[in-house]
Amino acid sequence: MSNLSFLKTKSRNIDYDHFDSRLLNYVLKYEPSFLTCISCGGCTATCSAGNLTSFNVRQIGLSLRRGETEVLSQEIRKCMFCGKCTLVCPRDINIRNVVLLIKKGLSMEELED
Ligand code: SF4
Ligand code: SF4
Repeated sequence: MSNLSFLKTKSRNIDYDHFDSRLLNYVLKYEPSFLTCISCGGCTATCSAGNLTSFNVRQIGLSLRRGETEVLSQEIRKCMFCGKCTLVCPRDINIRNVVLLIKKGLSMEELED
């Protein structure tokens, strides 16, 4: 008899009423081009850190949009700041700078609302 149990996955909806948008706002203030990201994954495909570790720069962008600061603090240190991601982005987003701003924002005591 096969096991017909189901895996209940976590909702990936963004709760805009409750999530902490301060880090996202900080990044967008200095790198507004991130607003045009289409999550194509081109940056991830070329990422040096992604070739050596589980780092996924596209996922970093999604976590930023979802206010998942814990995930970001764990993952962001894997970036080597080589800049390859920025060279291939079809939207001309300086995604390397986005990663740098996340790192800076996370180290700040207070972020503006
Ligand atoms: S390559 Fe550019 S548009 Fe595509 S996911 Fe990365 S940052 Fe977004
Ligand atoms: S700068 Fe960071 S995110 Fe971009 S390709 Fe290099 S290691 Fe990956």
